[in-house]
Amino acid sequence: MIAGSGPMVLGSWPRGLRWPALAVAAAAVGLWALGGFAGTVSPELRARLAAEAEAQAIVAEHLAFTGDVGVPEEREVQVASGETLAMALNKAGANPSEANALLNSVSNIFDGRRLRRDQILKVYFESNGAEARLTGLAFRSEPGAAITVNRTFDGQFRARQVMMPLTFEVARIAARVEKSLYDSAIAGGATEKEVRQLADIFAYDIDFQRDIHPGDALELVFERFRDDEGRTVKTENLLFVSLDARGAAKSFYRFKREGEATADWYDANGKSARKFLMKTPINGARLSSGFGLRRHPILGYSALHKGTDFAAPTGTPIMAAGDGVVVKAGYNGGYGNYVRIRHSDGYETAYAHMSRFGRGVRPGVRVSQQQVIGYVGSTGRSTGPHLHYEVLLRGQQINPMRLRVPTGRNLSATELAAFKIERDRIDALRVAHQREAELRGAPRGQAIVTAASAVPSDGAIRGGFR
Ligand SMILES: [Zn+2]
Repeated sequence: MIAGSGPMVLGSWPRGLRWPALAVAAAAVGLWALGGFAGTVSPELRARLAAEAEAQAIVAEHLAFTGDVGVPEEREVQVASGETLAMALNKAGANPSEANALLNSVSNIFDGRRLRRDQILKVYFESNGAEARLTGLAFRSEPGAAITVNRTFDGQFRARQVMMPLTFEVARIAARVEKSLYDSAIAGGATEKEVRQLADIFAYDIDFQRDIHPGDALELVFERFRDDEGRTVKTENLLFVSLDARGAAKSFYRFKREGEATADWYDANGKSARKFLMKTPINGARLSSGFGLRRHPILGYSALHKGTDFAAPTGTPIMAAGDGVVVKAGYNGGYGNYVRIRHSDGYETAYAHMSRFGRGVRPGVRVSQQQVIGYVGSTGRSTGPHLHYEVLLRGQQINPMRLRVPTGRNLSATELAAFKIERDRIDALRVAHQREAELRGAPRGQAIVTAASAVPSDGAIRGGFR
């Protein structure tokens, strides 16, 4: 249990017992040093040296902290919003002059105002019945790094930062959507970057507000560096995404064509995830009104709504639904600021009520899919900020949600062969992860995060250790 308001004594360590946090830090330092000789030292010797180094470190730490009389005591404090290190030490019950001495020793490696809210600090004291004397401090300064401060023989405080070695791995999240897709992905160790990519990949197939429900299945396979506590420090490539929305499963694999700068996404058969036109040419929007008959919010009478409305804050970027040529960009009556793009095969798309146009968007200009052509607004006949989106076929509005147009970019025979090798590599990783999860007896419906060390894909290992 952690006290938010005041210090809580978690119990004291009997003399002679090691101090876990520092022992772990010391062990990490030991292994860190050994890492430099990898290849020349046998695994057995390495393990023995590591054990010896750890034992020595424990003895040294122990002496440093228990050289004096008194009973060591650990107090945990949780950092409140806006709290500095000085305030937190005060909250833990440290004597002001001792706290100052400790802060001085930390100041050149850590800015005491950079503490994060809810962060846990371990503050160490030693008491001999009367007043508790401040003896040390340990906390996570950032993911993958810890700061420890302790008193040395001469009574001075000594602070140091320990960088934990980061582990590269391919991680897999298999989860049921609980509250939201975003929460499920983040809880599994993915970052916002993966969630954003997922939304982009599925932008052609799924309307996230309408099509995703609690209970739907999500799978992500991605490369990451994690710290010793299993937390994601940073992620590299997303390799695989799958969504099973009410039994309609769709999966895509990352694949980079030779000679292309960026990777693209393909289904198991090598068909591109990109489609001719996007269903949802905007990110993070809520579908507020579909195509069909409805009572007009301003005019009052029932009319055929010839487009799809997406509610989103003013200024949200609007993307071109497909490659094409701008045929209109300007004010257009009830549509307000309006852009119309001509695509191939008699298709056009239109975007209304924009607050402003994208850079360089004017009639005659060629635009590519996902290029920003304008920003959400409420110009023209509109009740609030939203995008009114229309898809037209030979001049007639059709329902964009029913759009069934074939894909554009397909792989050549050689590219397809290369894709299948990459797909099989990713599938093998997924199978290995699945077995690992089953062996661990992971309960159904819960986020299962498994991790296997693997050979990183292109460029992933840059700066593996920090
Ligand atoms: Zn509309």
